[in-house]
Amino acid sequence: MTEIPPDHPRYESLLAREKVVDGVKKGFTSLQGLISQGRGESFDYLIGEKSPESALYAERAAVAAILLAENPVISVNGNAVALAPDKLVALAGLTGAKLEVNLFHRTERRVHLIIDRLKAHGAGEVLGKNPDRELDLPHARRLVESKGIYSADVVLVPLEDGDRCEKLVEMGKTVIAVDLNPLSRTSRTATISIVDNLTRALSNMVELSREMKHDRKDELMEVISSYDNRKVLAAALSEIQEHLKNMSVEIGD
Ligand code: ATP
Ligand code: MG
Repeated sequence: MTEIPPDHPRYESLLAREKVVDGVKKGFTSLQGLISQGRGESFDYLIGEKSPESALYAERAAVAAILLAENPVISVNGNAVALAPDKLVALAGLTGAKLEVNLFHRTERRVHLIIDRLKAHGAGEVLGKNPDRELDLPHARRLVESKGIYSADVVLVPLEDGDRCEKLVEMGKTVIAVDLNPLSRTSRTATISIVDNLTRALSNMVELSREMKHDRKDELMEVISSYDNRKVLAAALSEIQEHLKNMSVEIGD
């Protein structure tokens, strides 16, 4: 990977870019993943490259939902595993969620490379290489495992495409999406939409899991029952507007 000087003002963003490029070079991230990352970066600029209040709120609700779930699953793709393999494994370990590889641009080689990478970062079992069920979708995202995504009650889908998100919601699952674009179909369809950078969202969720796993069940249920995703999405858009207004004042001064 190209070395990024740590004092560069946009160090985190450039480092993330290098990680996705490295994922493509090593074969576990698709070429299309570069475009997704670029789209994400532009939305991150608009939210000011930090986790907005609305995202922190959604992340808390997401952790409550995962901790309360009977069969929570974290769906992993090539970008997620390039950006934050350690955080995916930590979140699974802290919450008891399963990890399952699920790819739009699926090849068996990529599935194996992603599983190997998660294992190198300390994962136990990783599902996804022996799909035995199919969702009603016209592409490879349909391939799932019966003990994983197929039967999951809560699914965390970092960097999802809109139609699988919709399908999982239709199946009655609680779908937690992480997507920097609050206008994407994914964000608008998910049960809990986290409008934040995946790397920051996962760090926050790991921290929250450490705290919240000791909370009582009724406290966790209260977090979920008071959560309103439409309000959170609207707040994310307002926070972008606010940030842009502040920037226009700062630049115009
Ligand atoms: P939809 O089908 O839901 O409308 P899309 O087709 O826009 O989604 P893709 O182009 O496949 O989706 O990209 C995935 C989404 O992930 C984009 O909306 C992008 O903003 C977001 N994204 C990319 N990288 C990150 C990241 N590091 N953190 C959070 N979100 C990201
Ligand atoms: Mg899409």
